[in-house]
Amino acid sequence: MLRIAHRDFERICAQALAEYPHECCGLLVEEVPSGVSAAHACTNVQQPRHEEDPECYPRDASTAYLIDAGEQLRIVEEAEKAGSRIAGCYHSHIDCPAYFSDEDERRTWIFNCREAGDAPDDPDAMYLVLSVYGEETGSQRKVQGYKCFAWDGRRYAETGIEIV
Ligand SMILES: [Zn+2]
Repeated sequence: MLRIAHRDFERICAQALAEYPHECCGLLVEEVPSGVSAAHACTNVQQPRHEEDPECYPRDASTAYLIDAGEQLRIVEEAEKAGSRIAGCYHSHIDCPAYFSDEDERRTWIFNCREAGDAPDDPDAMYLVLSVYGEETGSQRKVQGYKCFAWDGRRYAETGIEIV
C-alpha cells in the first residue's frame, strides 16, 4: 500500500493538470520510518525524444512518459543521503482511465525482454497512475481518478492508497 502525504498528493494533481495534454511524471520517495511518501516532480522527456527519434520513440508525451535520467539520479542520491527510499513513481493518463497499461508494464522491465511471469527489476516499486480529462485550452481539466499498482508476486495488481 502507498501512503502519501496529502500536500504531496495535491501537488501531483496540480502537476498533472498543468502538464496536460502531456503525461506528467515523478518519483515517490518514502521517508523512513514514517512510511509516508513525498512527491518529487520530474520532467517528462518523452516529447523531445519522440521528436528527435520517432522510430525509437513512436509515442509522444500524450501516451507515454520518460523520466529525465539526470533528475532521477539526483533524487535517488538525495533520498539515499537522507536515509529515505524510492517507493516508486507516478504518472498521469490523458483522457483515459487510471489503469496499468501494457506500456506501463513494459516500462517496469529495464531491458524490455522479460518472459511472462518473470519478476520485475524492482518488485517493491509502486506505480501511482492519475487520470486527467480536459480540453487543451479549457479550464475544465480534472483529475477523474487515481489508482496505485504493485507487483503481487505474479502480476501487477491494484494496491491501496492512503492519503495522510
Ligand atoms: Zn501509463
